[in-house]
Amino acid sequence: MRVLRSVSLLVCACLIAGALLSCASPSGKEPQEPKTQAKSYYEYFDTVSTVLSYAGDSADTFYANCDAVSEILQEYHRLLDIYYEHTGINNLKTVNRNAGVAPVKVDRKLIDFLLYAKEIYALTNGATNIAMGSVLKLWHDAREKGIDDPQHAYLPSDSDLAEAAKHTDINSLVIDEAAGTVFLTDPLMRLDVGAIGKGYATERAAELLIARGVSAYVLNIGGNIRAIGAKTSGRGWSTGITNPDKTAGKEFVCTVEIKDTSLVTSGDYERYFVVGGVRYHHIIDPKTNQPAAYFSSVSVQTKDGGLADALSTALFCMSYEEGLALINGIGGVEVVWVGKDGTVKLTNGITRPEG
Ligand code: ADP
Ligand code: MG
Repeated sequence: MRVLRSVSLLVCACLIAGALLSCASPSGKEPQEPKTQAKSYYEYFDTVSTVLSYAGDSADTFYANCDAVSEILQEYHRLLDIYYEHTGINNLKTVNRNAGVAPVKVDRKLIDFLLYAKEIYALTNGATNIAMGSVLKLWHDAREKGIDDPQHAYLPSDSDLAEAAKHTDINSLVIDEAAGTVFLTDPLMRLDVGAIGKGYATERAAELLIARGVSAYVLNIGGNIRAIGAKTSGRGWSTGITNPDKTAGKEFVCTVEIKDTSLVTSGDYERYFVVGGVRYHHIIDPKTNQPAAYFSSVSVQTKDGGLADALSTALFCMSYEEGLALINGIGGVEVVWVGKDGTVKLTNGITRPEG
C-alpha cells in the first residue's frame, strides 16, 4: 500500500504540472487571470486529491469549498473501501465479507453507486465489471508481491484465474432498493470498484461545487480531472496527455483543452509489476483475465467524471473499432488512444489549445 501511494503521488504531481501549465503562464493576449488557489488532500482513494480555483475567490470561500469537497470525498472513500471497514457504516468491505451470508443494509449513496455500476456494465458490454473482484484480487496480490519483492515476483496461475472468473457474474449483485440492502448471492464473488469509484466520487464533488455556485474550478482526484466552467478568458485549461513511453523524451503525446468537462486516463505505465522482463499492468480484460493488450493508454473526455472513468477502463479493454462503435452509440465522448507502438488516434471533437 505504501509503495502504491508514493507512485500515485508522483503521477499526480506530473499531472498537475502538466495539466495546468497554460494557467501558470497565460499568453499576453488573454485577460489577466486571477491568482490560482490550490489545496490538496492525501487521505482519499490512496491518491492525491487537489481542488484548484481560478475564480479569484476570497480565502474563506475557497477553503469552505475545499471543506465541502473533502467531506464528500471522505464519505465515498469510506463507502467504497474494499480493504477496511469504518466505524458506524457498512461499506463495500462489509458487503464483500457477507457474500453468500446475508444482505447488508447500506447508505442510499452506496445503493445509487452500485446501480450506476450495473448500468456501466450493460453500457460497456461487461468490459468494466465491478464484480470481477475475485480475479482482480489475484492480480492485485501478485502485483503487491512483485513490487515489494521483485526477485520472487510471480503470475497468478491460469487455473486460479479461470476458477475466480466463475464468480464474476454481475447478476449475483442483488440490490434491494426498497429494503436498502445489497447482497452478493455468490459466496465467492467480490466487488472491486477501482475502475469507477474515483470518477464517480469526483463527479459528486463537482455537482456539489456547482450547486455552491462555483465556476473556474478544477478537481484533480488522482489524475481524474474535472473542470467546472472555464478561465476568465473563456478558454479552457490545457491538459497534457502523458506519453506512456518514458524513454521517448517527449512528456506528452498531445495537449487537449478542457472546460466544463472531465478528462480521465487509463494506462499501463503507472501501476505494474515485472515477471521475466515482461510488464504486467493493472487493467484486466474480462475476456482473457489477463492485462488488456490493446493500448498503452486511453483518455476519455466527457462531461460526467463517473462516465469518463468507467469508459477509460472499458475502452482500454477493447479494440479501437469496438471502442469507436461504443462511444458513437453514447455521444458526447471524445477519446485519445495511444497504441503500444506509440500511435496516437483521436476523435474529431477533441479540442486542442491552438484550435
Ligand atoms: P486507475 O484507477 O489506475 O486510474 P482505472 O480507472 O482504469 O485506472 O481502474 C483500474 C482499476 O480498476 C484496477 O486497479 C482494478 O481495481 C480495477 N479493474 C481493472 N480492470 C477492470 C475491469 N475490466 N473492470 C472493472 N474493474 C477493473
Ligand atoms: Mg476507470
